[in-house]
Amino acid sequence: MTHIEEKIVPYIPGDGVGQEIWQASQPVFDAAIQKAYQGQKKILWQEILAGEKAFDQTGEWLPEATLEAIHEAKIAIKGPLTTPVGGGIRSINVTLRQKLDLFACVRPVRYFKGVPSPVKEPEKTDMVIFRENTEDVYAGIEFAIDDPKTKKIIDFLQQELDVTSIRFPETSGIGIKPISKEGSQRLVHSAIDYAVKQGRKSVTLVHKGNIMKFTEGGFKNWGYDLAESSFKETTFTMRQFDKIKADKGADAAQTALKEAQVSGKVIINDVIADNFLQQILLYPERYDVVATTNLNGDYISDALAAQVGGIGISPGANINYHTGYAIFEATHGTAPDIAGLGKANPSSLLLSGVMMLEYFGWQEAADLITQAIEQALVRKQVTSDFAHQLPDATLLSTQEFGEYLITLL
Ligand code: NAD
Repeated sequence: MTHIEEKIVPYIPGDGVGQEIWQASQPVFDAAIQKAYQGQKKILWQEILAGEKAFDQTGEWLPEATLEAIHEAKIAIKGPLTTPVGGGIRSINVTLRQKLDLFACVRPVRYFKGVPSPVKEPEKTDMVIFRENTEDVYAGIEFAIDDPKTKKIIDFLQQELDVTSIRFPETSGIGIKPISKEGSQRLVHSAIDYAVKQGRKSVTLVHKGNIMKFTEGGFKNWGYDLAESSFKETTFTMRQFDKIKADKGADAAQTALKEAQVSGKVIINDVIADNFLQQILLYPERYDVVATTNLNGDYISDALAAQVGGIGISPGANINYHTGYAIFEATHGTAPDIAGLGKANPSSLLLSGVMMLEYFGWQEAADLITQAIEQALVRKQVTSDFAHQLPDATLLSTQEFGEYLITLL
């Protein structure tokens, strides 16, 4: 008897446009898997609750049962969730990432032919961003202007640590930015490991270490340390380049770099965050895999997504490469302005599903979906976000777009 491989995948359709994009996407996943494996592989979908639907049914934004289901399956896929205003939970997404310690937010950014883009040569952008997901100002250690704890902290800083640079101590809010060696290195390790395995050319550490020396600067230094200790055979760092240059001159450094490139080593370099935002517009072809801290990663991911045609098509995954836990998710929000109108583009969720299938090693099904999206875009069969910008496009509703993709599988 042949063995049928079944995977239980908990899913959260999400709020706002979530329900529509989920309903359009799930049949595409099933059809692609069926086409690729003829019934030998299957996903058993299991709906779990979070967000508004959870709140309406259980009074909780993120019920314990949801976390348990994800713990059990180790995997989940989700649409966007409303960020509750007020109440005990800051953000369901951030809570999920922290509870499951999903330390890497992975966002591949590439151009799909036919997608309207604000830049001249969007096809030059092909990067995978690894954003640290558990530290930085996202730790939520913040104290408000009128909180007595704020005064305590400011007094402590001024009296115990001789801090004199708080410009307006009586009227400040305070935020704390923890960035650790351990947290930085596990993220950079994942990025380099990915680059080595996928035959990528470089990993760029993006940081603001010129100003925040011991947090952002730490991230950069620990990243280089890790590359030089754990990936000796497979990487060459620009810190090594600088050292050779100082010891033996510029020619020797160039020769070493050339040799490393020719032998297929991954080049590890770094760029300061503000410069990086210029670089991705001017020379996107110079960048490949990117490893960065949490807040930088937030800005960079959205800027790059806009560059290749917007957030309706950008996928994402939150992964702990040590435990294997992963949540794949549409990167956009709940789009309340178009919810319920059949205007949402389901591609972000679909391509997040592609990442999930690749994570399972189900590459054939993943490729079928990617190719179908490529075809639909080339044929200008698109949802309303693109239809307005493309002359001669055929406007499809969210549901129709999903159905059209199935005909292209
Ligand atoms: P948004 O991403 O929901 O919308 C920004 C713009 O992009 C809107 O004009 C919207 O119509 C458009 N858009 C978004 N997704 C689209 C799609 N699939 N197809 C076509 N157009 C699309 O951002 P927002 O308005 O700032 O946030 C709305 C809500 O979503 C807030 O509650 C926010 O906290 C939440 N949010 C959730 C997530 C998440 O769950 N991952 C991410 C971001 C924002």
